[in-house]
Amino acid sequence: MAKKSSTAKKGAENAASDMLGALRQAGMRLTPQRYAICEALSGNREHPTAQVLFDRLRVDYPSLSRATVYNTLHTLVEAGLLLELVSAGDGNAHFDPDLSPHVHLVCVNCHQIDDLEEPALAGIARRVARNSGYELRNAGLAYYGLCPNCQKAKARKSASAGR
Ligand SMILES: [Zn+2]
Ligand SMILES: [Zn+2]
Repeated sequence: MAKKSSTAKKGAENAASDMLGALRQAGMRLTPQRYAICEALSGNREHPTAQVLFDRLRVDYPSLSRATVYNTLHTLVEAGLLLELVSAGDGNAHFDPDLSPHVHLVCVNCHQIDDLEEPALAGIARRVARNSGYELRNAGLAYYGLCPNCQKAKARKSASAGR
């Protein structure tokens, strides 16, 4: 593995070009399908599952296989350019290209994942790194609850039930 990497960009989101570079380093051929996967991930704030990406990209790339999506995602996770979240409660892995420290809010009803900037996390990460001696790659802090939409839907339902 090459020592010099282009992943030193702190806090910033990984551009599609960084991800493509990592795939090439891992020995993958840069097919139009893999370009499309990296483009779809870059700046993506929806924490998509592999299936969601597959369904979306299949429209433009009918020859895309599910295996290509999965092995591309896993190569990016291994390269440290993509965060794999397995805690959304829907049994699926969700993927996040944003490696900067941020809080995840997970809706236990609709399983959407939202981001929240939390400046205090950077200080916690520094302390954890210092006290553990680990070179930290990423971190996950998730809070679980009902998203605003699901709260509204619940309120509507109980209002109409009470009538
Ligand atoms: Zn919800
Ligand atoms: Zn996120």
